Amino acid sequence: MEKKTDPKKEAIRLTKLWQQYGPNTYPLDLDELVSGAILTSDFSDNLIIDRQRFDSFEGSLVRTNGTRKWTMLLNSQVRNGRRRRFTFAHELGHFMCHRELRNKFEDSEESLNDFRDEIENEANTFASWLLMPANLIRNEFGSIQWDTEALREIGNRFECSLQASALRYVRLSPKPIAFVVSRDGMILWAVKSETAPYMASYCFGDELPEGSHAVSCHQNGEVGTERQAVGPVWNDLRHAFESQYFDQSGQGYQYTCIEFQ
Ligand SMILES: [Zn+2]
Repeated sequence: MEKKTDPKKEAIRLTKLWQQYGPNTYPLDLDELVSGAILTSDFSDNLIIDRQRFDSFEGSLVRTNGTRKWTMLLNSQVRNGRRRRFTFAHELGHFMCHRELRNKFEDSEESLNDFRDEIENEANTFASWLLMPANLIRNEFGSIQWDTEALREIGNRFECSLQASALRYVRLSPKPIAFVVSRDGMILWAVKSETAPYMASYCFGDELPEGSHAVSCHQNGEVGTERQAVGPVWNDLRHAFESQYFDQSGQGYQYTCIEFQ
């Protein structure tokens, strides 16, 4: 029977191996995790990491026909190191959780961002839990105020993209906070913590709300990371603090960190 492994449990298991029996250093060294913690534990499958230039994908995982040997192909042409790292962790997620399901996985930028596909979603969850363990985030960033400065610190600490860092941090936080990604004044996606209130502007295609610092920065071309108090613009009743960050990669992303009062 085909069996699938829970990506969260698997990420926690590897995190324990790394933290208790491994070097316990972060940013996590994925190569060392694979060669040390994974391949030397009670494991019948073999995994080789191969970095090359590819045109059609960012990462891939392939079984050698009829064997328990797997090769992970990572595209060295991808320039952003944090993205290469996340792809590595994503492919490792397929290896740890999905290798009984298929003999081949191939990931382009599109599939890496496909939140509707269960398998891709699981590999992303595995990657973010592995690269950004909950215990470290709580210990080191549990009491910070949520703004783009904090977000950059989290990204640097774990060598993850700001989007991946924000997603992980906000979902873990007990405080009423949110993170909004927009472009040209329109929301692409957003995430809020469990204790955050209802937000009228939250979904793909919603406009940034009138009166928000986010919309004024967008309209006036201001580049502000300073934390600013705003009125009840994200929620009808709750005031909030906002700070903005404009991504420099040429994609035109605007990031807004929101902390409700
Ligand atoms: Zn994938």
